[in-house]
Amino acid sequence: MSFTLPDLPYAHNALEPHIDSTTMEIHHKRHHNLYITNLNNAIESSSLEGLSIEDLCKNHSDNIAVRNNGGGHYNHSLFWEILSPNGGGDPTGKVKDMINSSFGDFNNFKEKFKTAAMTRFGSGWAWLCQVDDHLEICSTANQDNPLMPGICNDSSNPLMGIDVWEHAYYLNYQNKRVEYIDAFFNILNWEEVNNRLK
Ligand code: MN
Repeated sequence: MSFTLPDLPYAHNALEPHIDSTTMEIHHKRHHNLYITNLNNAIESSSLEGLSIEDLCKNHSDNIAVRNNGGGHYNHSLFWEILSPNGGGDPTGKVKDMINSSFGDFNNFKEKFKTAAMTRFGSGWAWLCQVDDHLEICSTANQDNPLMPGICNDSSNPLMGIDVWEHAYYLNYQNKRVEYIDAFFNILNWEEVNNRLK
């Protein structure tokens, strides 16, 4: 059973004006799809075939093809889900309480998350993770993610992540990563972030 490209939970143009339709099409149909193709090729007819994407990230990231392409598949699948044309605003539900207890308040959390995203040199991701009863922010290089051991807290359950590869924002925002990060918060689906709590 090989991995397949998941449909977006909305139309490619649904996140405009925050993320433009062309960026979404290229990002989803070409970049994400290529990670899946390369992942399938890497694990075909090996002992890794049939493992879940979480298992591959947690236990097989020493395999560089799995690390890069499995990470790419996991990360992008999460990214599409935590965005919504009806997103934005203040956090809701249990995540709101956990943000307040872990970071003081939403504004302080937002500043810390933006700093993690802004200071990730080159390509990578910034993350908000559940670690037991609190939340932590971290960032990862390339297509690494917090499930992979030895990068963030090894108990991390990723709740939300922002893709800061240039392919995620360059058409609209050019080099202005900070404006893209602000736009991300306007389409962030807090309901889905809550759904990811364990
Ligand atoms: Mn990407």
